[in-house]
Amino acid sequence: AVAIELSNVSFQYEGEWRAALKEVSLHFAPGSKTAIVGPSGSGKSTILDLLLKLRTPSSGVLRLNEVSINELNEESIWRNTRVVLQQSHFFRGTIRDNLLADDQNLDEEREAERLLRVLNAVQLQHLSLKDIVYEKGENLSDGEKQRLAIARAMLRPGTLWLLDEPTSALDYVTEARVMKNLMAQAVNDTLLLICHRLTGLEQMHQIVVMDQGRVVETGTFDELMSQKGYFY
Ligand code: ADP
Ligand code: ADP
Repeated sequence: AVAIELSNVSFQYEGEWRAALKEVSLHFAPGSKTAIVGPSGSGKSTILDLLLKLRTPSSGVLRLNEVSINELNEESIWRNTRVVLQQSHFFRGTIRDNLLADDQNLDEEREAERLLRVLNAVQLQHLSLKDIVYEKGENLSDGEKQRLAIARAMLRPGTLWLLDEPTSALDYVTEARVMKNLMAQAVNDTLLLICHRLTGLEQMHQIVVMDQGRVVETGTFDELMSQKGYFY
């Protein structure tokens, strides 16, 4: 699994007068599961953008397994990470095309078995093999697309999961089932989950609370629950 470190990381979007991240220092141990919570605009998504090298920090260093990400190429990070971002725009082809990368070749029978198993894990078991091969991803509903994005992450290699509100469009029961399966698969991996709801956070090792670009609190679910004001 991957160790992640942010050391005094600041980031300012071009043309903005306020920094989106202000001297953020965080450490995520290999195999740890962390939820990042906080109001909209507090800088949560920007952390993932920096880890994925979609943007470059204004100052500070981010490290994966002690290596500065300046020294890693974007492609190798993406190849080794299971990513679900808020806008996962990749639904032009068939459902199958959206699930499997070009290099993921399997024989037909094993592929079918694998796809059906993972679709079951994300509660898309109503899709048949015929749907998967012929139906366009873009014809799915928002909630189905979100589950498809999670299924895609489940099918990728990698021991790091970066998830930005992956279940925001799902109902409570579906969300709980999908997250249970995801957490079971990720049991040995490092996982960062950005979320705006508190359901399911009990199972995280650590919760990081952000506000206005700063980390304002870290602790376990129980620790934060016992402090008034953080969970509203
Ligand atoms: P969160 O994920 O907590 O909602 P973000 O990381 O998306 O927060 O945003 C942090 C801050 O950066 C906010 O003030 C937001 O308005 C600003 N911001 C986010 N994306 C952009 C962008 N593309 N251009 C300019 N400002 C941005
Ligand atoms: P690959 O081995 O997948 O072909 P590279 O050889 O280009 O990729 O780079 C692999 C390096 O990238 C490893 O040394 C590893 O430390 C680092 N790396 C980057 N992102 C991750 C990640 N998410 N998980 C593990 N290692 C990563």
